[in-house]
Amino acid sequence: GEIRQRHRRAIDEATAEITFGAWIDGETRSASTGETFRTTDPVIDETIAEVPRCTSEDIETAVDAAQSSFKGEWSDLGVTERSALLNEWADELSAHRDTLGLLESLDTGKPLEYAKEEIDGAVAFLSYYADIARSHGGKQIPVDGDSLVYTQREPYGVCGQITPWNFPLYLLSWKVGPALATGNTVVIKPAELTPLTALYAAQLSEGILPDGVLNVVPGYGEEAGAPLTEHEDVRKLAFTGEDLTGETIMKAAAANITPVTLELGGKSPMIVFPDADVETAAEAAADGIFYNTGQACDAASRILLHEDIKEEFTEAFLDHAADYTVGDPLEEGTMMGPLAHQGQYEKVTDYIELGTEEGATVLTGGSAPDDPDLEDGWFIEPTIFDDVSNDMRIAQEEIFGPVECLLTFSDYDEAIEMANDIEYGLAGYVITENASLAHQAASDIEAGLIAVNKYPGDDLGVPFGGYKRSGIGRECAEETLDHYTQTKTVNMRL
Ligand code: NAD
Repeated sequence: GEIRQRHRRAIDEATAEITFGAWIDGETRSASTGETFRTTDPVIDETIAEVPRCTSEDIETAVDAAQSSFKGEWSDLGVTERSALLNEWADELSAHRDTLGLLESLDTGKPLEYAKEEIDGAVAFLSYYADIARSHGGKQIPVDGDSLVYTQREPYGVCGQITPWNFPLYLLSWKVGPALATGNTVVIKPAELTPLTALYAAQLSEGILPDGVLNVVPGYGEEAGAPLTEHEDVRKLAFTGEDLTGETIMKAAAANITPVTLELGGKSPMIVFPDADVETAAEAAADGIFYNTGQACDAASRILLHEDIKEEFTEAFLDHAADYTVGDPLEEGTMMGPLAHQGQYEKVTDYIELGTEEGATVLTGGSAPDDPDLEDGWFIEPTIFDDVSNDMRIAQEEIFGPVECLLTFSDYDEAIEMANDIEYGLAGYVITENASLAHQAASDIEAGLIAVNKYPGDDLGVPFGGYKRSGIGRECAEETLDHYTQTKTVNMRL
């Protein structure tokens, strides 16, 4: 009753003044077929808005627009002006933080306060890239003889970008920021489950970014995403999502020899050594698996516990799980909302069933919360499995929900072997008070990011990306600009 009313009011408030069209060549458009799809609020399972269901024809129009602006106005602007416009757009997003945050919360089910922090994060990343673009240049290379040899970094042209539904606007900023700052233009396809903030953010670029510089084309993966990855005028692709989709995209890219950046899934280990501070460990573990309802690519989803600390850790971790408030994302104090959609709910509950079949023990959670107010949403309680072995499917596959697996080890080599016995390599977490041991483990774990005694946020300038099946390339950092530019060598006789 009450929750439904609150959400209906919030949906009206958030959408009242916005028409959610595709954003192509500086204007709001319908899909060429005229068709739409619905995006829903996972708390009450009701429609938030109808959005154009774009297909290859719309992608074609958007790529043409991006191509013209790349060859024209956007390239003619210097780095100073491009950065200024990117900052101006970021300021505009910041000014609409409340609406963007509310839309993000309604579309994903994440707590409103966290959603607003993500909008701030997106703004910060756009400004960061605007600021560092100027210092990204080539170099002069000494050679024998009377020649001047130098390199310059040049943009690729039209970038095709595809994003997932777990951190919609935030991950858009990781992709659009570096692309535009280095002089490329963009066609981006947001996830069909959560397209709203991308579409509204694009509208907020009106009058700031020249027409065609940023194009946002909503639609399904196969109908709109695939044609974008196959388009021969798209010179650079960047994707965040599941590893199997990444594989498909890489194959499509191969046909045109298009470079790709891939940020894929993970099943990141957290090793808790026997000397660990138990409170630190339990807190990092809880944030690592319950934040964003476990729908985080770098979730700490396998906890490897030394047998001597296992009991003490488990007790503290259970306390943290009990304190992780599940509830209405619009209510202050809620730490965990529902899963973002029905499909994800079914996937997670299937994995919980599978874990029991595989012989693991549910220590807490395992089902929907016992709260009639939440019964229409895709809620699941914080869930912890004990007695997990590393060869179980629940230990090897990305569940993408608030489901933790506890494993036990007795010596260092065993811990590292278990940590690395996985297809993924996005992150690794180490909990110990022994600095030397921490450095040793950091060096031995096969992952793109190691965090010691914390589950960190993403800081500006700190490279983020995976080893193994977790991806190719790094986002959030200076080297990201390398992924969006190519080297031209100039070799001149003096
Ligand atoms: P997904 O792969 O199902 O979808 C991601 C995007 O790809 C969506 O926009 C979708 O429409 C599109 N897509 C689907 N099929 C396509 C195709 N054939 N061609 C082109 N595009 C296609 O992933 P998801 O379920 O939205 O996101 C969850 C996944 O993302 C998890 O595996 C998670 O770990 C990963 N992720 C990784 C990072 C990271 O930085 N490494 C960050 C967030 C999420």
